[in-house]
Amino acid sequence: MLGLYVHVPFCSAICNYCNFNRGLFDAALKLRYVDAIVREIRTHGERRIPISPPIPNPQSPFPGPADTIYFGGGTPSLLDPDEIARIIGACEQTFEVARDREVTLEANPESIDATRLAAYREAGVNRLSIGVQSFRDDELRRLSRLHDVDRAVAAFHAARAAGFDNVSLDLMMWLPQQSVSEWLESIDAAIALAPDHLSLYLLEVYPNAPLKDDMARARWSQAPDDDAAAMYLEAMERLEHAGLLQYEISNVARAGRRSRHNLKYWTDGGWLGFGCGAHSTRDGVRWKNISSTMDYIETVSRGASPAVDVRCLTSDERLGDALFTGLRLVDGIDGNAIQTRYGIDVWQRFGRDLERFCDAGLLRRDGARLWLTRRGMLLAHEVMAVFV
Ligand code: SF4
Repeated sequence: MLGLYVHVPFCSAICNYCNFNRGLFDAALKLRYVDAIVREIRTHGERRIPISPPIPNPQSPFPGPADTIYFGGGTPSLLDPDEIARIIGACEQTFEVARDREVTLEANPESIDATRLAAYREAGVNRLSIGVQSFRDDELRRLSRLHDVDRAVAAFHAARAAGFDNVSLDLMMWLPQQSVSEWLESIDAAIALAPDHLSLYLLEVYPNAPLKDDMARARWSQAPDDDAAAMYLEAMERLEHAGLLQYEISNVARAGRRSRHNLKYWTDGGWLGFGCGAHSTRDGVRWKNISSTMDYIETVSRGASPAVDVRCLTSDERLGDALFTGLRLVDGIDGNAIQTRYGIDVWQRFGRDLERFCDAGLLRRDGARLWLTRRGMLLAHEVMAVFV
């Protein structure tokens, strides 16, 4: 089934490290944006893949069944619950949305409280992903986040009190001035809250990020690479011990709480993205929406498609993507499934290049299955490069 992604590009302030497609919150613009999103979703029901002539696809009914809706951003929790309900309603009217759907809302701690959370649940959200980033106030300040640790903890408890039984936390590691033990404080604090899911991201300092200047000015630095590796390996051990099992390079979950939406990206699934800058991939066709919020609203409002960069993937690109993303999973690549879908024996085609990674203990092979060891995950891109 399809995953539906809705991009919300508004934030209350812009964090110094952020490289996402976002801008400052503007209440009037938000109203127009929600109208445009609803219109884009509705018109998708009338439109085939936005390519001319449309690709004949007898296996894929349009608009088709979907079982996940994911509000990502930006800060989706800046949309009011009735706006979230309207967008979910548009999805239901356009797609056959499964009854046991997963509906995720990304939320920042400072933008949610008990009343708002109860209203989101009422609107149909059943999974929350809270952008905590760190359980140390000094680290949050260095990242110019608007919340502090108390607020993050209060947001988590409010989510539980509102009845959310599927809550994920985002944490970032390898922060400026962060030592291994300080990072592990955040991991232990997260474990103490007993979330259902955790995503661990490595901070990437982009060349034009204001954080880069902040770091130079304050003489902050990131720990050496070996420490970053230790942060990752030790965190995964502690989380595993606490019943949060790794299922993807950056993600751990309790049993039954893996992100069904994100799994579509890693298991060669199909998804449609709505909103500015959103990406879609379906049946071998990939496209991206216009990035600018204003241009997106203007285009959708006059009834035109916001899709740009529409591309039919070659069979080699599809295979490469399936292998590249599949290797992110702890379960790895199922060679039999690849053989059935693409008619390729993975080991016969890539074995010569992969052998050295097996010898180095980064990759394992058992029959048709291939997976990265945890140490291999630290060097995943080198292994994945074989496929693309
Ligand atoms: S809240 Fe998230 S999307 Fe918004 S500026 Fe900060 S990091 Fe970027």
